[in-house]
Amino acid sequence: FILPLVMMGLVGAGMLTWVMIGRLKRASSELENREELSRHQALHDALSGLPNRHHFVERLQDALDGLIQSRNNGRVVVAYIDVDRFKDVNDTMGHQAGDALIMAVAQRLSVTLTPSDFLARFGGDEFAVLRRAVSADAAEELAQRLRSAFEDAFDVYGQHVRMTASIGIAMAPDHGASPQELMRHADIALYQGKNQGRDRAMLFCAEMAAEVEQRREIELDLEGAIQSNALHLHYQPLISCNSGKVTGVAALLRWRHPTRGDLSPAMFVPVAEEAGLMPALGTFVLTRAFEEAKLWPDLEVAINLSPVQFRHVDLVDLLKNLLKDHDVDPSRIVLEVTEGVLMESTERNRQILDAVRELGFKIALDDFGTGYSSLRYLCDFRFDKIKIDRAFVTGIHERKRAMTIIQSVVTLGRGLGMDIVAEGVETEAEASVMRLIGVTELQGFFFSHAVPSAKIAELVDAFGRPAADADTARVRREQRA
Ligand code: GH3
Ligand code: MG
Repeated sequence: FILPLVMMGLVGAGMLTWVMIGRLKRASSELENREELSRHQALHDALSGLPNRHHFVERLQDALDGLIQSRNNGRVVVAYIDVDRFKDVNDTMGHQAGDALIMAVAQRLSVTLTPSDFLARFGGDEFAVLRRAVSADAAEELAQRLRSAFEDAFDVYGQHVRMTASIGIAMAPDHGASPQELMRHADIALYQGKNQGRDRAMLFCAEMAAEVEQRREIELDLEGAIQSNALHLHYQPLISCNSGKVTGVAALLRWRHPTRGDLSPAMFVPVAEEAGLMPALGTFVLTRAFEEAKLWPDLEVAINLSPVQFRHVDLVDLLKNLLKDHDVDPSRIVLEVTEGVLMESTERNRQILDAVRELGFKIALDDFGTGYSSLRYLCDFRFDKIKIDRAFVTGIHERKRAMTIIQSVVTLGRGLGMDIVAEGVETEAEASVMRLIGVTELQGFFFSHAVPSAKIAELVDAFGRPAADADTARVRREQRA
């Protein structure tokens, strides 16, 4: 009686175990799948499906290990690829189109490379390639191949979009031995490519690293200089074409570096822009110019605004506060904006400019003629002045076409009730032509370089006096000639 019961129990237990084992197996294979999936996700980029940075570093480390073991002349090449002006696509065609373009670029790169190249996406519009090679020539070949990937237009929702890319390349053992070093150097080379005008491939070299190091030092020093008030403003006079007198000054930033001497804004402003120091720098310039504007109650003071001040600073509030703190008539302050400032989000910029004008400030369009659509800006925004870029002023007396263009700009501007300033006037001939054409104010070395604020009164005096000292006498003589 007991035996069948035991048998049944055993069979039951056996079946149960079997079912349990089956379940366990399924669970474990599910777990495996899930692990596989999460490992895949950890190593791949969701949008393009390409390996990600983490994966790239692992592979690069393997390749470098292999290089040490092989002890031959092998190379490991790392290339960074960053699409040029990709943000424009996002801005003009939308984020989805941007995504589609990223996928199209990923696809194009995959088919352009050889099967042994390892392609990854680092995020944004940045890709990287790892190539093992037997000689240094591989870097050049890879550069050409990558550039060829951008020769044809990309298809984005049926639209043909032409893009270029900048490429930075570094290789082991020449430029480093660790993944971090190689990747940093490829990045520096890429950065150089962007800086030199984009649409190019650059191979890393030691000078590049030195330059980056120098920029970093300047960045640190600049931060200190802003905090310790080591920067100052110089002012270049603007001369009225009518009276020959100084009617205003343009504020220009100066930095006397403790070891590098005088640095021009052309050198350190790009560093400041990149380091995120522009808001602080812009606020410093405005504040200092307001303080010093009190010294010359009869002059206009022109101050450059940077694109960053439009984007990241509450410009209107800043200006309101400055007006409150300094007893300066806002109609004497001319805020100069470039087309670069206005390029973005037109409606918002228009509101800012309107608010600034409502506070009583004047606004000038700077560098006129150098951008893409100067005339459009004249339609879209209201300006009190146009500043004709020096590129049109230099040698104008010998350039008939430039003269004709400037002449019509002057007619147009004055028709719209604006003053016209010519900057970069260096010779008497240039000054004469500008006066003849009907420009209202002149600025340039021909009259004076930018000088410290303490010297302005002297200049105003010299230009105000009827041909007194030698310098003004010369100017007067030339004006009459
Ligand atoms: P540059 O020539 O200096 O490279 O200019 P850029 O406009 O290409 O700018 P950058 O390479 O510095 O930045 C790439 C931009 O790509 C930043 C971000 O707005 C955008 N972006 C980042 N990730 C994605 C994404 O997954 N999809 C889309 N559509 N855009 C992205
Ligand atoms: Mg880019």
